[in-house]
Amino acid sequence: MSYKAFASDGFGFFKSNSVDPVSDEDLTPYPTYCEVCFWKCAGWAYVDKSGRIRKVIGNQNDPHCNGRLCPRGTGGVGMVYDEDRLKNPLIRETRTDGSQYFREATWEEALDKVANKMKEVKEKYGPEAFGLFNHGTPGGMLEHLLRAYGSESNAEPAFANCRGPRSSAFYSTFGAYVGSPENTDIRDTKCLVLIGSHIGENMHNSQVQEMSDAIDNGATIITVDPRLSTAASHSQYWLPIKPSTDIALLMAWIHVLINEGLYNKEYVEKYTFGLDYLKDHVKNMTPEWAYGITTIEPEMIRTTARAMASAAPSVVVHPGRHVVWYGDDTQRSRALAILNALLGSWGKRGGFYFPESVSVPKFPHPHYPEPEWTWKDWNDGKYPLATMGITTELLKASIPRYNYKHQVKAWMVAGTNLPLSMPDKPLFKEAAASVEFIMVMDTMPMDITGYADVVLPEATYLERYDVIRSAANREPNIALRMPAIEPMYNSKPGWWIAKQIGERLGLHDYFNYDDYSEVIDWQLKQLGTSLEEMKKIGVKKYPRKSGPLYLADNEDFTFNTNTGKIELYSTDFADHGFDAIPKYTKHPEPPQNFYRLIYGRAPMHTFSRTSNNHNLWDLMSENSVWVNPKVANLWQLKNGQEVWLKNQDGHITSFPVKVRVTERIRWDSVYMVHGFGHNNKKLSRAYGRGASDTEMITNVAVDPVMGGTGMRGNFITFLTEDPALEGKEVKA
Ligand code: SF4
Repeated sequence: MSYKAFASDGFGFFKSNSVDPVSDEDLTPYPTYCEVCFWKCAGWAYVDKSGRIRKVIGNQNDPHCNGRLCPRGTGGVGMVYDEDRLKNPLIRETRTDGSQYFREATWEEALDKVANKMKEVKEKYGPEAFGLFNHGTPGGMLEHLLRAYGSESNAEPAFANCRGPRSSAFYSTFGAYVGSPENTDIRDTKCLVLIGSHIGENMHNSQVQEMSDAIDNGATIITVDPRLSTAASHSQYWLPIKPSTDIALLMAWIHVLINEGLYNKEYVEKYTFGLDYLKDHVKNMTPEWAYGITTIEPEMIRTTARAMASAAPSVVVHPGRHVVWYGDDTQRSRALAILNALLGSWGKRGGFYFPESVSVPKFPHPHYPEPEWTWKDWNDGKYPLATMGITTELLKASIPRYNYKHQVKAWMVAGTNLPLSMPDKPLFKEAAASVEFIMVMDTMPMDITGYADVVLPEATYLERYDVIRSAANREPNIALRMPAIEPMYNSKPGWWIAKQIGERLGLHDYFNYDDYSEVIDWQLKQLGTSLEEMKKIGVKKYPRKSGPLYLADNEDFTFNTNTGKIELYSTDFADHGFDAIPKYTKHPEPPQNFYRLIYGRAPMHTFSRTSNNHNLWDLMSENSVWVNPKVANLWQLKNGQEVWLKNQDGHITSFPVKVRVTERIRWDSVYMVHGFGHNNKKLSRAYGRGASDTEMITNVAVDPVMGGTGMRGNFITFLTEDPALEGKEVKA
């Protein structure tokens, strides 16, 4: 039976679970790398004789997974056989009474419509006015299309809404980024410090494996979190810090290391710049000072600082990943980087290794045209250390009342579900209503598709070729993704969609191939291998060329910073008028009867992307709101009771969420897993399940250094009755 027969027979996933068992000898493996999250673990998709994918497993040779996929990766096949998938191109139509609907269209019609709109925008406003929200490999395909067309007006939520502050901070300090996967040497560490980073729940595969090994090897784990996360429960020290005060704790730790002479003197003297400034800066930032701010006992601050020092240089003070909290996040990341520098962990075994990647040659095409303006010009240099487009700036550039010199008039969106990933939903809605045209490319009818003029159904990662994966790691390596089966329904790979639009715009020379396998084969041959070989091995490792993983004792080394040293005092920050050494600033506290909203991850889901996946929905179908028993008592809330949340600006969640009464959260905060509360009814399992934390995030504290969107300054209270019945205005 072919995949088409599965589809046309309505032979859905649950039925398919009952198909006969089959042995591995009757299955054909196809190499891939997982797209369920950004870790991109390489694996094998096993296909039976009828053309059905039976399982996906990890590639033993892959350093991202070491042969073991996480639960989401194993369940990724659920994305392929999800009956709610986008099956055909859709075009928005308006009836005579003004109501709107989507009608199914042919590919010809849908692609023509997109290309014609691109021509019109180019003619009326210039190509730069076509913006792109992108994420993951499909976003890369559209980025190439827009660059060829003449636009560099793109932004990724992964930067300003996630890891941007740490990138700017570590680059300013060490002259290097921490990358993805991060260059943390957790497997050999003696001490791992996690600040609001819940490894295990965030399930960054090889990192979780390394942390588990480190625990087995007796490493000290120190976790700073207002919540007893899974990582905190495996830690020797859990510091349930008062939210928003982390910089005070970091500065007090730095004070202890300096004051007690516990920092790595040889390393600091040889490799760093600005110790005297730092000493002076922290001289009054004692543990007693920090206690009054953080609620962490001075003795605990001293004990944990000494634990780090005794393990140094094999210490990782983890840079975190989703670090946009309070708007001073680049400074907090700087404090964290400085702490690592004092411990001498950068470039040392058990600290941070020097990563290396394979440089994949670019498939030949003409130079991209030079745009007259790019994302860097939206805000006239307001965020000087931003290294990528800022999503909220792209929204503002789309709204005429902001009066940006350079305005965006149309969008493409790929791989990101903006209504659930962007804070400040009113801003997003205004921007979406302001632009003339939105094209969304996705595999699922995510909430964002409801805003589109044209929806293009993309093939899932198990049905398409994609770019060669090359991420920096201990050993340089590449991985291949190829289709395990033909695209189901009428879906098409991202590369094909980009090429078809490009051809309609006369950009053939940028898409000079019939099939993306030609691009990959050409690139692989430059790298001394071939598509044929990679189909057999999936992952190929290369010898390092850049030198050893770690600094040798006393080795001379020039860092890629202004001073050539690790900058405890950042000359880059000083040059741009920012504090060269981080300061603690007080942030607003919850008003009476409100609680700070903290959100995070669950190991079985990736943001809002997976909530409709049958396999993962079976494991977790909705989120809950964690409430301290003291608070539950005050509000007379019971475990499992449904409540609506209302934030400080009067916004109420679209759907109720169940209460989880637990000592594992501080009384001044509540906690939710991000990614639930979908509003699109076409997501038959995920619709209305749980509540969306993003709906509660209307107050955004913008980081002046790089434009990050701090989201932890939002406070919620509880509504125990359905607000619709009470006649309250629901502002979601
Ligand atoms: Fe896939 Fe899990 Fe790896 Fe992410 S960590 S790429 S979901 S297997």
